[in-house]
Amino acid sequence: MSKVYLTGAGPGDIELLTMKAHRVIKEADVIIYDRLANPDMLDMAKDGCEFVYVGKEDGRHTLPQDEINEVIYQNALKHDVVVRLKGGDPFVFGRGGEEGSYLAKRDIKFEIIPGITSAISVPAYAGIPVTHRGIAVSFRVVTGHESPNKKESQIPWENFKTNDTIIFLMGLHNLSKISSKLMEIGKPKDYPCAVISKGTTEEQSVVVGTLEDIVEKSKGVPTPALIVVGEVVKLREQLNWFSS
Ligand code: SAH
Repeated sequence: MSKVYLTGAGPGDIELLTMKAHRVIKEADVIIYDRLANPDMLDMAKDGCEFVYVGKEDGRHTLPQDEINEVIYQNALKHDVVVRLKGGDPFVFGRGGEEGSYLAKRDIKFEIIPGITSAISVPAYAGIPVTHRGIAVSFRVVTGHESPNKKESQIPWENFKTNDTIIFLMGLHNLSKISSKLMEIGKPKDYPCAVISKGTTEEQSVVVGTLEDIVEKSKGVPTPALIVVGEVVKLREQLNWFSS
């Protein structure tokens, strides 16, 4: 009986894979994976396991999502253990919900294996806690993919006036719009923010700045990258454990 495992691969560091994800990767007959899933994980698969790359980059698909859904479904008809390996967590901007619904409608059994999302782990590897007593009582994870100036913006910018930590995924190419918008709603020009690229890997790089200068400072930073906005960024001065 076939089963599809919609599996979170974590943010990059291979040791941030869950034990459950590790087990299904070893049992898989086929692994369908994205760019964001660390390819070293494929070395853990058994002999004869097939690999299908569906090339999802920064929220943009090389293959459209409905074709990816169909690839997963077709593999479920052929194989017993199908692992759909996705960067971070499958339900955090990972379109795992759409893949699950597609399978549910076709009576294919599936399981969700949550992963460590980049939204909190990448800041952690940069020495930035997303919450901190007395500094930030909550955090938001927001898509930066949508243009903030789009008329029908879904992002509730007005709600961002509080001191919550804001983490933008898929936002590097919109960074100048994001920082302008945050200053427009009243955040000070010197409000702290950071851009973290290839977090949790050996190629991790971190740029710390303010809403005013972050665009200039982070020019040329490679993807995948996320943006952290909030006073918690300053804690990196004491907590930067990974690159030191
Ligand atoms: N499901 C994933 C997110 C998918 S959206 C998760 O839970 O992590 C893809 C975005 O995640 C990228 O555009 C980037 O903003 C962020 N991202 C993923 N891995 C990252 C990494 N190692 N370093 C920095 N950002 C990362």
